[in-house]
Amino acid sequence: MPQPRNSAATPPTPSLSQQVKSCDVCGNIYDKSFEVKMDDRTFTFDCFECAIHELAPECAHCHCRVIGHGTESNGVFFCCAHCARGHGAGSARDRVDEH
Ligand SMILES: [Zn+2]
Ligand SMILES: [Zn+2]
Repeated sequence: MPQPRNSAATPPTPSLSQQVKSCDVCGNIYDKSFEVKMDDRTFTFDCFECAIHELAPECAHCHCRVIGHGTESNGVFFCCAHCARGHGAGSARDRVDEH
């Protein structure tokens, strides 16, 4: 029985010269880590969960992480207009047309 020569299944040899950075949040070293540049700082993350943990603004009302557009009122972030209104930012609106 001939051996199938499935060279496509062979994982590529990792290049050791490529600098592998560890995640700024959890310290995990992952070859598919990515960098996020915000202002003049560059962050390295191994996953989006860590990026959100570090960079996503927190809703000032319900304290969830704002990972969508959210809404901002006087420099304070909210996850939605409902939270902004609940926090006294009466003019805040979601980015959808209200009828
Ligand atoms: Zn991480
Ligand atoms: Zn909220």
